[in-house]
Amino acid sequence: MRRLLILTLLAALISPAFGAEIVLVYPRTDSLGAVIEYDAALDSTFLLGRVLPPRGELVINGRTVALTSEGAFLAWLPIRRHPEPEEWLLRFQAVGGDSATLRFPYAFARTTKSVDTSAAPFSPRVVKIAATNAQICTVPAGSYFVFPELGCRMVATDHQSGFFTVRLGDGLQAAVDERWVAVEQDSQLPPAMLRDGYCRSPSGFSECVLALDRTVPWFAELVDAGTTLQVTLFDTKAALNRVRYELDDPLLSQITWTQQPEGVVLRLLGKRAFSHGYSIAYVNDSLRVLLRGASSTGRGLKGKTVVLDPGHGGSATGAVGPLGTKEKDVVLRLALLLEKELKRSGANVMLTRRSDDDLGLYERTDLARQAQADLLLSLHANALPDGENPLTRNGSATYYYQPHSRAAAEVIHCHLLKAAALRDDGLWYGNLALARPTECPAVLVEVAYLIYPPEERLLRSDDFLRKLAKGLARGVREYFEIP
Ligand SMILES: [Zn+2]
Repeated sequence: MRRLLILTLLAALISPAFGAEIVLVYPRTDSLGAVIEYDAALDSTFLLGRVLPPRGELVINGRTVALTSEGAFLAWLPIRRHPEPEEWLLRFQAVGGDSATLRFPYAFARTTKSVDTSAAPFSPRVVKIAATNAQICTVPAGSYFVFPELGCRMVATDHQSGFFTVRLGDGLQAAVDERWVAVEQDSQLPPAMLRDGYCRSPSGFSECVLALDRTVPWFAELVDAGTTLQVTLFDTKAALNRVRYELDDPLLSQITWTQQPEGVVLRLLGKRAFSHGYSIAYVNDSLRVLLRGASSTGRGLKGKTVVLDPGHGGSATGAVGPLGTKEKDVVLRLALLLEKELKRSGANVMLTRRSDDDLGLYERTDLARQAQADLLLSLHANALPDGENPLTRNGSATYYYQPHSRAAAEVIHCHLLKAAALRDDGLWYGNLALARPTECPAVLVEVAYLIYPPEERLLRSDDFLRKLAKGLARGVREYFEIP
């Protein structure tokens, strides 16, 4: 046993000294015999990985590809089509004479849509949301715009290609994935009724509670420079005649409503902007809206709760760089450094994960919600889909979704750009789960491109991560100084 171990160790030590090796990181070819499929419209794409030893000449499909001093490569190449062989052929000639070859075929995805002509006509049925974090989109593969609660019911008028067409109110249709609903026997669903309620202001919030006889899909939006929260309750009729107010509510001025064909449109008018978010939930046969203005702890980062979310983790590696650097590891290191910086300024800091754990997207946003975070910041390192050129698109980017997150996104992006000193890859509106929470400002940063060799090299250095942590901390501090 021991002799075998020594022999194995010797073999492991000796074998890399001989021969040359190509390690292809992307496209992934680890499942044996799997053929990579490209979108038929693509004419070029990228391959990345590394060679061992790190010096020599790498040629892919007849083109010489640049190697970094660590042996990393990122190639942007035309995709060959029939009658040429549809394959990647990588040849590496190491300094010293050894060589390695790697070849694998690829194919183009079929774009012909199957049309199901045998399906019986669909008769309208009530469907009930049977999953948490379900999403309703404008049309199949359109934008998500309604996030219905568990138990929310709607009338489905059609079923095709895995989606139900649902009626949100008179004249407004949307689509919901069949995986998220249970079909009921009923075909009729009377409109929900919205009735009387009250407003009050427990510490730090304004709360508005209105009786509603069932949970309905709703669409909420901050308008009038963030001073009004407009909530459309679909398929709802108003029987709302009395609302009790509390004197001295610091945030909420009053509620108005109109009856529209698609439902009731509620307007919660603020005395100032609802700058720190809101939440809407169906609780005890009522619609409950919580509104947050500036935090009760006043200006400055001291006493604020910041939730940092290192992206991915566990079996979800995230992006992988040519040298094998994993996004999940880089962003965790960055989160721990940023935590120190923020704590030094008196913030309460929580991390969604502190080790290499598997964690769902909504477990992360739930944690921020439970912590009553003043800010949620999700940390990532970027990659691109097939067909986009990482040699020309790289650098730092920042994403937000809710209007009340815009100010935080802007100031954090400015400081990220200064600290990283890379290309500005943009400040983006993005419909991402980690940018979507309504309860607090939520921002997602892609600090650099892990698939781009010069940026992978930076992300492997603790100096660079410390610089990023300091820059992001400056951004967070400045955000909490905004009056
Ligand atoms: Zn990521």
